[in-house]
Amino acid sequence: MIKKIFLSCFVLFYLNTGALGIEFFGKFTEGGIIKGKTSFNSKLFLDKKKLKVSKNGYFIFGIKKGRTKDIEIKVLTKGGSQIFNKKIEKRDFLIQKINGLPKKMVTPGKKALERIKKEQVFFNQMRSVNSNNEFFYSKFLKPTTGITSGKYGSQRVLNGKPRRPHMGLDIANKKGTSILATAEGLVTLAQKNLYFTGGTIGIDHGHGITSVYYHLNSLNVNKGQQVSQGEVIGTMGSTGRSTGDHLHFGIYWKQIALDPELALKN
Ligand SMILES: [Zn+2]
Repeated sequence: MIKKIFLSCFVLFYLNTGALGIEFFGKFTEGGIIKGKTSFNSKLFLDKKKLKVSKNGYFIFGIKKGRTKDIEIKVLTKGGSQIFNKKIEKRDFLIQKINGLPKKMVTPGKKALERIKKEQVFFNQMRSVNSNNEFFYSKFLKPTTGITSGKYGSQRVLNGKPRRPHMGLDIANKKGTSILATAEGLVTLAQKNLYFTGGTIGIDHGHGITSVYYHLNSLNVNKGQQVSQGEVIGTMGSTGRSTGDHLHFGIYWKQIALDPELALKN
């Protein structure tokens, strides 16, 4: 009898450790970024696909704008498995009208389209990096100072024509204002003059997390360079498709654009 009680207690204890063996930080909402920690030897599955867990048990993933379906997270440990079904909070996004843009910037010509297509390769490559670095786990730093002039997810109407939503955070200040790396990482993109984004930097922080900085006036770093959090990587400008001096700051998880404002809280 005593043995039986002991055994059932043991089983309960084991299940409990399973339940306590994982933590999530962040908001389960459109554009949200979820960081977490589990035991290093746990296996994680996000929507039935394997999710990378670092050697210290850290993991991260993002939630696409427009997602309504619950997210399924399965944790597999030596003690058993557990499934979490997380509801996604719906959001309302702004509509932003911008007029007075040069026509070629709103509707690119044939030559420009060829250039855009070529440049798209840089972005796809940058967002395909899936390193084992765990720099993403430190709290993200706001990369510059200024006023918020554009928000994540806002629908853009350029010269009266509806365009893709704005997938980053715009911060406006004087030309030449310092731009800092939001977290430690490896520079995976550094280009002075891209069609849409002008002076452009991308930094890999590990596990598919990339931060991007657009419209820069000058670049202080090169591709392949390691940067520390808070390091000056460039200066603010208005290069590419831009109507004034500002930084477009973006955070990606793989190819999915996340809300930088949510990322900065996490
Ligand atoms: Zn922007």
